[in-house]
Amino acid sequence: MKLFNTLTQSLEEFVPIENTVRIYVCGVTPYDTTHLGHAFTYVSFDTLMRYLEHIGYGINYVQNVTDIDDDILRKAPQMGLTWDELGRREIERFLNDMDSLNVRRPTVYARATEEIPYIIELIEKLLNVGHAYVNEGCVFYSVTQDAEFGSLARAIGLKDYNAMLTIANDRGNYPEDKRKKDPLDFVLWQAQAPGEPAWESPWGPGRPGWHIECSSMSMHFLGQQIDIHGGGADLAFPHHTCEIAQSEHATGLTPFSRVWMHTGMVYQEGEKMSKSLGNLTLVRNLLKEYSSDAIRIVLQSHHYRYPWECFPEDLKIAAETADLFKQVRTLIGDTLQGEDQMLRNRFKASMNNDLNTPEALLLLRHAAKEALTTSNLSLGSEVLRLTAVLGLSA
Ligand SMILES: [Zn+2]
Repeated sequence: MKLFNTLTQSLEEFVPIENTVRIYVCGVTPYDTTHLGHAFTYVSFDTLMRYLEHIGYGINYVQNVTDIDDDILRKAPQMGLTWDELGRREIERFLNDMDSLNVRRPTVYARATEEIPYIIELIEKLLNVGHAYVNEGCVFYSVTQDAEFGSLARAIGLKDYNAMLTIANDRGNYPEDKRKKDPLDFVLWQAQAPGEPAWESPWGPGRPGWHIECSSMSMHFLGQQIDIHGGGADLAFPHHTCEIAQSEHATGLTPFSRVWMHTGMVYQEGEKMSKSLGNLTLVRNLLKEYSSDAIRIVLQSHHYRYPWECFPEDLKIAAETADLFKQVRTLIGDTLQGEDQMLRNRFKASMNNDLNTPEALLLLRHAAKEALTTSNLSLGSEVLRLTAVLGLSA
């Protein structure tokens, strides 16, 4: 199977470390409701997991939840909740939405607040090798100490220090902090601010920075090196760029992840779907009108790597496709009979080509129509075997 590696900007033959694939996908920060952009990311990786299993791999899949961060602390009081009440409520909602979309739960669903001792250990390693410094109860990663910093950022076109700094500032990821030696340095341990929750550490009470959580959880649950690290395209910089720097310097091992995979952003009326813009298509609302299969199909009709815009027309077509697969189920019943090697091979060829689900779905649509018009039971049975690999429930 070939997968596109964001870090090398090329299609590479996928060769995992062992037969059980170690994969880490950055999860949500639970303070708002699941929208179509989230669904695209997690359905894409769910499809990848299902397909890897289908071709014979084992799966060890870790997803995290950033259950403490600035946004949660800001949002919770506005909603009359404590930060951990808001976190718990939104995690529950997110998991329910994912269950509704037939997204299988990861092997480990890791929470930042349960990871603190491991995070502290990792920060201590970075201090020991001289890649971090302490200032007034905070610990920062020192970018100027790191000549290789930014390999992933450069791969996605951020050519130099200034380009990185502009994006970091734009995204609000790097609030000005006089305690930093360099504006691009990022926080590993944030000293407690008045009224904020805090955990004890060798540098005083505080909480972990965002980037270090993922490095820590990835290493803790999957080992120092993994096969696939993924997330939305907006995570490539700074989040994943910072993860690579701190992980590889803490362990001395390269690469931290063999493949970096990023899902395209979902747009609505020409704008990126985002909480701040308020142009969200919520999964919960879509489920009132469309079946889970129809929603999965609309997502899988777009290649995971590219940005796309969701139009109502696409949902209608997806619903028709879901209906077509249902008709095949009615034709075949519960007992599958016969095979169609040609369809299976073509499906495999599409999926082996960087998880080309749009092409795979098109094949299955054509095959479903043919099976229905000719009452071809072998072809129909094969269609149902393969829609199951895509996580469809027809
Ligand atoms: Zn992450």
